[in-house]
Amino acid sequence: MFRAAVVRLTLWYLAVIMLLSVGFSIWIYNVSGNEFGALQARQQELFQGNRFGVPGNFTQFNRLQQIDQSEENIATNLIYFNLIILLGGGTLSYFLAKRTLRPIEEAMEAQNRFTADASHELRTPLTAMRTELEVALRDRELKLAESKDLHKSNLEEIEKLENLTNGLLKLAKQDGADVHFKTLSLESLVTDAIKQVDSRAAKRKIALTANIVDGKFKGDAWALTELIAILLDNAIKYSPAGTEVLISAEVNRQHASISVQDHGAGMKASDLPYIFNRFYRVDASRSKEKVDGYGLGLSIAKQIADTHKGVIAVKSKLGEGSIFTVTLPIDPKKVLAGKSIL
Ligand code: ADP
Repeated sequence: MFRAAVVRLTLWYLAVIMLLSVGFSIWIYNVSGNEFGALQARQQELFQGNRFGVPGNFTQFNRLQQIDQSEENIATNLIYFNLIILLGGGTLSYFLAKRTLRPIEEAMEAQNRFTADASHELRTPLTAMRTELEVALRDRELKLAESKDLHKSNLEEIEKLENLTNGLLKLAKQDGADVHFKTLSLESLVTDAIKQVDSRAAKRKIALTANIVDGKFKGDAWALTELIAILLDNAIKYSPAGTEVLISAEVNRQHASISVQDHGAGMKASDLPYIFNRFYRVDASRSKEKVDGYGLGLSIAKQIADTHKGVIAVKSKLGEGSIFTVTLPIDPKKVLAGKSIL
């Protein structure tokens, strides 16, 4: 499909080039034809002077022939010129068409990858549930306790599916323009985000410490609370019990910044460029406990930072912990697209 689009665009580009080239050639041919006509007429006038009204000598005859020959030469040269333009223009059009369609091809590839990853992630819990149910249905002596275990396991899978679809919905929400910038208080944002995660922190015996210098800035309350909650949730998920997660936040004249520091698993430097990609998860085989997740949290966080024209930076050391810092402009609408706020 992409090839066909390249060919079609190449033909369009070539048609425009050839239209210009042929039009230009016809114009040149007409202009030079007029000039030659005038030259011939002048020659004829000169011949009128002699007795027979025809070229009187070999030089005069030769001159008329030269004019005819030149006219023919111009026509031949213009045909060659257009053939060269056809070949050169064709090659150029092909490369230009490929270049023009490259971003669309990349977006299509990313979309296909995303659909394949999402389908794979959705299929895994569904397959697990189906297998368990089929085995249970075939078992004629299924006990009540076993049936209850099966339901419990199915519920866990359903919970995973819910988490995944919620993540996908959040991604879709951030992809669109569904954001409402209002003046916000940094402190209330951080407090709301902490409320979302503190039961999980308590369950894992992780102490959450906040150090906030309050201030006002503009942003989408729902999205930014979500962003902070994702960073806090990860800090809690990837830290051993009994450790501390520190959240620091402040607003100065240019930007608001929020950082979340943990003393948990940390990451290798080679993983850091990929952790914001959708469905990317650091190889969990090294860690002792398996942590649930789909690799969507940080890509949602990055998308939220992007819509606020902000940036997320990460520093991490394997086995020592990580620190994620989000820097947001005071007013995202005043920041030119693509211009860094730092
Ligand atoms: P999820 O946590 O659902 O796997 P994320 O997109 O939130 O997805 O994170 C991507 C990966 O980055 C995680 O799988 C994890 O390996 C790594 N990661 C994120 N935050 C931390 C952290 N605070 N400490 C260690 N690793 C982290």
